[in-house]
Amino acid sequence: MSRFDRRSFLIAAAAALAAPRLWARPAFAAYPFSLGIASGAPLPDGVVLWTRLAPDPLNGGGLPPATIEVRWEIARDAGFRDIIRHGRALAEPQYAHSVHVEVEGLAPARWYWYRFMAGDAVSPAGRTRTAPPGGATADRLRFAFASCQQYEQGFYAAHRHMAAENLDLVVFLGDYIYESSWGSRHVRKHEGPEPATLEQYRNRYARYKSDADLQRCHAAFPWLVTWDDHEVDNDYANDRSEDLDPNFLVRRAAAYQAYWEHMPLRKQSRPAGPRMQLYGRYDFGGLARFHVLDGRQYRDHQACPRFGRGGSNVIDDLNCPARLERQRTLLGTEQENWLYDGLSASRTHWNIIAQQLLMAQTARTPGPERKFWSDGWDGYPAARARLLQAIAERRPANPLVIGGDVHFNCVSDLRVDFDDTQSPVVATEFCGTSITSQGQAQARLDALRAENPHVCFANGEKRGYVVMDLAEKRCLAQLRVIDSEKAADSPISTLASFVVEGGRPGAEAA
Ligand code: FE
Ligand code: CA
Repeated sequence: MSRFDRRSFLIAAAAALAAPRLWARPAFAAYPFSLGIASGAPLPDGVVLWTRLAPDPLNGGGLPPATIEVRWEIARDAGFRDIIRHGRALAEPQYAHSVHVEVEGLAPARWYWYRFMAGDAVSPAGRTRTAPPGGATADRLRFAFASCQQYEQGFYAAHRHMAAENLDLVVFLGDYIYESSWGSRHVRKHEGPEPATLEQYRNRYARYKSDADLQRCHAAFPWLVTWDDHEVDNDYANDRSEDLDPNFLVRRAAAYQAYWEHMPLRKQSRPAGPRMQLYGRYDFGGLARFHVLDGRQYRDHQACPRFGRGGSNVIDDLNCPARLERQRTLLGTEQENWLYDGLSASRTHWNIIAQQLLMAQTARTPGPERKFWSDGWDGYPAARARLLQAIAERRPANPLVIGGDVHFNCVSDLRVDFDDTQSPVVATEFCGTSITSQGQAQARLDALRAENPHVCFANGEKRGYVVMDLAEKRCLAQLRVIDSEKAADSPISTLASFVVEGGRPGAEAA
């Protein structure tokens, strides 16, 4: 053996010794697929299948520190008579016995059904769909987007209704879990304190994913996901937490790992310490490109926080000129350049910028002392102007911005300069309401709309999701809302519908 071979051999041998043993014939004390199944990150020839073995989900999972083999099947029919791929994956204790299978070799633009087996247990079946082939003119894409599902504040009736929609895809834009217990009129409770350790974050995901309606919505469609702040800590920015925790990156590493463990993401997203590659591009034939962004991990700290605190503040330009600094970034330089390259290179009819925040400027009080909330894009106006200017110059076809975070439905015309009504509208924004998280007083949103003429619609009274129906020359957006998140059986209705015509940015009431 050469020195190099010998060294590699010793490393491999040591790794084999250190690897957890295989539990060859697992016998589970309770049903191990308690958290359901999911699929995501669809490509024309493949998709990620996800599950996690957790017979005791709220207490660390309830499994020994051993690796467990999980079998998977993917079929062309719901009855699994026509299984076209199957295989084995290892559920490893260091990743909470989660499984991420990257299935390849599938046909484009078609439905598949999948399930898992471990020991004698069989998971529920899920349905998923591959993306259309690259460059092909898919005539239609229907997707829903949603965000913000504080568990204590409501039931997931919105997920149950979303699962019954005729969709190809769900896009989730953050606040999948909440680390904190807050808000009024709780209908159910989180366990334990605010999570800080990996074990605690895992238990919090398990609490959320134990909901049958959420499981139903995962089982119905593939999801694209990004995060916002509450997957880690309210208002965190890069390495800074709300309470200036000096060890925050240790906490962030735990939160990112738990996020990866519970989402249908590829292995390329698996975190290394406090870093995780989440942003990415997904094409749906020649019709749509999704630019999925990460607005948390790389951002500059919020401008002018309150004394001794991190996180958001309400600031004005007289007292906080730092807000306007030109070099401030929300996405980080690398992601910004990656996004601009992706916008330039795009040949699809629609370009969907899928991110976590409200992008439109929303000044809070009239006049020169107008105030801004520093955690959203309003805290990073130079970065927003760069992005909108890049759209104006690179001219990707039909840019649509979708977002969440603010817990109200908001439809806006995005201008490079929001203070100049002659500045061209370069993109259309649809910001969703929340699945459950409480909204803002309508009187305040009415005032906000009056003060910000590029905001066409702002309503925070109802919870729900948005259905986007894309055709080559037209996008129809339907704001779907439930009557009340406090009732598990709440019915659904359409609050308002908007059309965006191809080649003409800006939304019109449908
Ligand atoms: Fe939220
Ligand atoms: Ca948020």
